[in-house]
Amino acid sequence: MWITLTTNRLNIKMEKNKNLTGGCICGQVKYTITEKPLFTQACHCKDCKIITGSSYVINSSVLDNTLIIEGEVSSTELKAGSGATSRAFFCNKCGAYIYTDYASAVGRLTVRTKTLNNSENFPPQVHIFTKDKDPWLNLTDDVICFEKMYDPKKTWPEESLKRYGEYLKNNNK
Ligand SMILES: [Zn+2]
Ligand SMILES: [Zn+2]
Repeated sequence: MWITLTTNRLNIKMEKNKNLTGGCICGQVKYTITEKPLFTQACHCKDCKIITGSSYVINSSVLDNTLIIEGEVSSTELKAGSGATSRAFFCNKCGAYIYTDYASAVGRLTVRTKTLNNSENFPPQVHIFTKDKDPWLNLTDDVICFEKMYDPKKTWPEESLKRYGEYLKNNNK
């Protein structure tokens, strides 16, 4: 089913020059995001279920120069069923999963939204891989769902596409 996306609903408001902060459980890793995320989405795929130990994960995509990590992280390479690779970054001490560097997401990093201090301000703008959604989990009718993935060019707010496009261009990525 196709749903028309309204910019109002997808545009997350954030005060200019107001940094976002977050971190792990033990306090060893803290981070700052200096610009609002490009997009936030929930993923219900089988890999995300295993890695979170829950029904779905919420991820926020940010420009890779806007995430500043303090503290020590370890990382490991993961391979999705599709063959796509990513590097997952965890707190060295408590193991909290902080962010992912997807090989396919040039110039972007994917922060685990729920590690943000004010994560309630960043609800998922879409839900993906709902073909694997737990049958007892009910999403409301106004939630935008995709059976698998989607085309960002048709789904992301124009402002985010513009910001991302300009960043790639200006940094020769
Ligand atoms: Zn920690
Ligand atoms: Zn997933």
